[in-house]
Amino acid sequence: MTSHPSALPRVVVLGGGLAGTLAAAALAPHVGEILIVERDSALPQTPAPRARLPQAAHAHTLWAGGADAMEELLPGVTTDWLAAGAHRIPIPNGMVSFSPAGWYRRSWDPTHYVIGAGRDLIDWAVRRRVLGMPNVGLRTRTKITGLAGDGARVRGVYVEQAAHDGQEAPGGPSLVEADLVVDATGRGSKSTRWLLDIGGPEVRETVVDAGVRYASRRYRAPEGAETDWPVVHIPADPRQARPGLFATIIPIEDGQWHVSLSGTRGGEPASREELFEEFARGVRHPLVADLLARAEPISDVSVYARTANHRRQFERAGLPEGFLVVGDATTSLNPVYGHGMSAAALGALALRGQAARTPVAAAGFTSRAQRAMARPTAAAWLLAVGQDRFYPGAIGRKPNLADRLSSQYVHRLVHTATGNGMVVKRVTDVVTLRKPAGILAGPAVLLAAALGPRKPRLDGPELTAREQEVLARPPLRSAETSSATDPR
Ligand SMILES: Cc1cc2nc3c(=O)[nH]c(=O)nc-3n(C[C@H](O)[C@H](O)[C@H](O)COP(=O)(O)OP(=O)(O)OC[C@H]3O[C@@H](n4cnc5c(N)ncnc54)[C@H](O)[C@@H]3O)c2cc1C
Repeated sequence: MTSHPSALPRVVVLGGGLAGTLAAAALAPHVGEILIVERDSALPQTPAPRARLPQAAHAHTLWAGGADAMEELLPGVTTDWLAAGAHRIPIPNGMVSFSPAGWYRRSWDPTHYVIGAGRDLIDWAVRRRVLGMPNVGLRTRTKITGLAGDGARVRGVYVEQAAHDGQEAPGGPSLVEADLVVDATGRGSKSTRWLLDIGGPEVRETVVDAGVRYASRRYRAPEGAETDWPVVHIPADPRQARPGLFATIIPIEDGQWHVSLSGTRGGEPASREELFEEFARGVRHPLVADLLARAEPISDVSVYARTANHRRQFERAGLPEGFLVVGDATTSLNPVYGHGMSAAALGALALRGQAARTPVAAAGFTSRAQRAMARPTAAAWLLAVGQDRFYPGAIGRKPNLADRLSSQYVHRLVHTATGNGMVVKRVTDVVTLRKPAGILAGPAVLLAAALGPRKPRLDGPELTAREQEVLARPPLRSAETSSATDPR
């Protein structure tokens, strides 16, 4: 259905994941009707797992920049998360992090936050608000098979019933007409091929793949550690010429810790339960392993390895009118930096801004919106590939002189941030995607980086009395070989 000039445009969003629902939230005030088309058999009405969100088995960091953007799109969603048991964890105080330049201090004033919640809970609260909008509808168990239109304008999509429980669905594809089609089908999007099929442009794609594999498990937090507990993060050091190993604990709802371990090519974690805590002990510091030894595992170990950085530059392709691509379908990022959801939310905010300025069905809307959405995504891309290119066996362009200089500057900044509150704030602004990376090249930050940290390097993590007390308890399991606070 192409709209009558005076009618409000009709939008079809492909994919009912986070990027699709946030795009619907962004467009809803500016269009007539939105239909979200989703291949999954149902989208749960509670914070429950669903088949086509396998990454929910892994710990997710929702940084302040992304959470702020979601709150702006859906006022009240933060209250929903917290009411369902999520934690709003202050940063830097609520994060114990062993950067490649040493332990970050926690004794600065809180300036940022992360939302500590399971991924199913984050998505459920967003979805519930979006599907509650009067002009947003949902069609599940429906698979998109291609675009309708030509290289000048997309006029809809072809859909068919999705296979269910191994049963092929009856019937061939049917056409759903729309004035605007938004592809939010995630990392596996077929948009580049669908565009070629209708005579559209070729889209440039860049891949940087450090070969990261995830292994994750949920634990019941030790008694007394169920709330007001910090995120614990031991990242890899990309400057060392060996596989990068990561370990993270995120406190989530129901008194649980969601724990993700990961390793780049050559250092991938195993899926065997008995090796999980051993891997945690092999990262740059054993703090995560020491904590896990005092907590009770309550889930199997889940593994995941589709983690390459893919950037598809739709904003440069000269797309047909009436077609946009959002979320992982444009840029999928190595998840260890925790930016995919936030980039999708900031992209949706940019989309809403564009829709407020230009009628959605007007000529030029899609190219302007696609360019506006690319900005926050490009920032997250640079943060990810700026590190991933350095890991052994990484696929993609090798680091050049500019990459090396920029990596050295980032290391110098992180070193300075271990003992300078102003630099911590600026670096956190960028890491949480609240501000663009350009702020790290301002005169005050450059001067601070030249002078280095104002406070001495810590020789162990800054832990509260309660955190130390939990660590002083006898381990529930025996793999422990070294002390909780001895840096490696
Ligand atoms: C292991 C792991 C850990 C992560 N950790 C973090 C983190 O800590 N912080 C963070 O911000 N991000 C993290 N991410 C990234 C985050 O999960 C993604 O950026 C986010 O889910 C992107 O959402 P999306 O809606 O674009 O894609 P998806 O979540 O993949 O949703 C796409 C939807 O489209 C549907 N679909 C696909 N094809 C079709 C079709 N042909 N027809 C109909 N429907 C279709 C799918 O069923 C799905 O529902 C992580 C990712 C992984 C894999």
